Amino acid sequence: MFTNIIAEVKKVKESFDFIRREERAALHGKKGGDPIFRMVEAERCHANILRIIPSSIILFLIEAFGMLWALTNKIKFDYAIGFFISFLCFTGAAAVFICIIEKKLSDPDFSSKQKRTLYMSFWLVYCVAAMSFSIMELLDRGTINNYMSFIFIFTVMPVIEPLPKTVLLIVTLTAEGLVMLKSNEYNPDVMLVCFVSVIIASASSYAIFFKFMNSRITEKRLEHFANGDQLTMLTNRRGFNSLAPELKRYCGKKSLKMLVIMADIDDFKQYNDTYGHVEGDICIKNVAAKIRENFSRPTDICARYGGEEFVVLSTVRDDEKLLEHIKELLADVENTVDKSGRGVTVSIGVCISENPSKAELGDLIKIADKELYNAKANGKNCISYKGKIYKN
Ligand code: GH3
Ligand code: MG
Ligand code: MG
Repeated sequence: MFTNIIAEVKKVKESFDFIRREERAALHGKKGGDPIFRMVEAERCHANILRIIPSSIILFLIEAFGMLWALTNKIKFDYAIGFFISFLCFTGAAAVFICIIEKKLSDPDFSSKQKRTLYMSFWLVYCVAAMSFSIMELLDRGTINNYMSFIFIFTVMPVIEPLPKTVLLIVTLTAEGLVMLKSNEYNPDVMLVCFVSVIIASASSYAIFFKFMNSRITEKRLEHFANGDQLTMLTNRRGFNSLAPELKRYCGKKSLKMLVIMADIDDFKQYNDTYGHVEGDICIKNVAAKIRENFSRPTDICARYGGEEFVVLSTVRDDEKLLEHIKELLADVENTVDKSGRGVTVSIGVCISENPSKAELGDLIKIADKELYNAKANGKNCISYKGKIYKN
């Protein structure tokens, strides 16, 4: 039984470390970060918000218990009213915030940074409310024993990491125990109920967090698998169709121009006929890797559009620099020579949309495709943009 618990705790810690590591790698654009984790930051906020629920339930129970205790012990009726008001305030605030945040979380235009800000402001309000109650208690009764420590634990609980949280929990409980022992309000029953409540709240909020995160990660992995191309590891056409509208919306919001590139490997039929399909597959994979290397920003979408055709969507800040950047891709592919000295080239059609949120994606792709044909007709291994040919 004991070893089982230890194993379970270890598993939770590993899972937590994994999430943190992958999240950081993906957020900072480091290699090795699974792209699905770009979306995990928002999921984490969501999971953290769900963790408020058990804490609120426990708060509810503590306040209800306090109310009952005040009434049955014939302690001042004011105390029972006080417990009741604080119970209403905390659980009510939690319920209202959860409703607002839940609504915002499902809004696709609400960025993960905004989600985080909203989430943090929730905890700030919660902390301020908790502190106000403690100050009120101090002014009223001249003590600050019960509320401050417990509410402090509840409020900071989802924000900080497991180890400092545990230390904080122990330190606060001990401090509270000492304060209570010294004061004439010491009541072992209250202490026990509070202690058990804190443990239950902490454990259940963690259970909710990990259960939610694990199911979301599995969901994202499945999505990634269905939308990914197994040969090149780029997004496939299905994934492209679901990601492209998001980038279009992002460009519209940031008033950015959008780049659409169609790239096609030159004379690939001949490559296949000469070296065979297996070698052809390796060639497609290498070209895909070069495309991804050159368009590796988190907002860039690189997809395998067809057999040896690729489509790239990116944001545009400077047209001139962009053409230089695409030329680099052209040179990069040309310089990809395999062990037996075989080289390969691509032709690229470029379309830049000035106002992508108003344009139809299909039309932009059509333009890029036309440019691609123009590049093919002008000797291949080149870029065509607005009918003009650019070569290295
Ligand atoms: P162009 O320069 O005009 O593009 O000439 P091309 O020979 O590349 O012309 P085309 O687009 O007609 O040929 C594409 C070839 O790519 C035909 C097909 O056999 C091959 N192909 C498509 N998908 C795959 C794949 O997944 N693996 C391999 N090995 N070959 C593929
Ligand atoms: Mg081709
Ligand atoms: Mg083709």
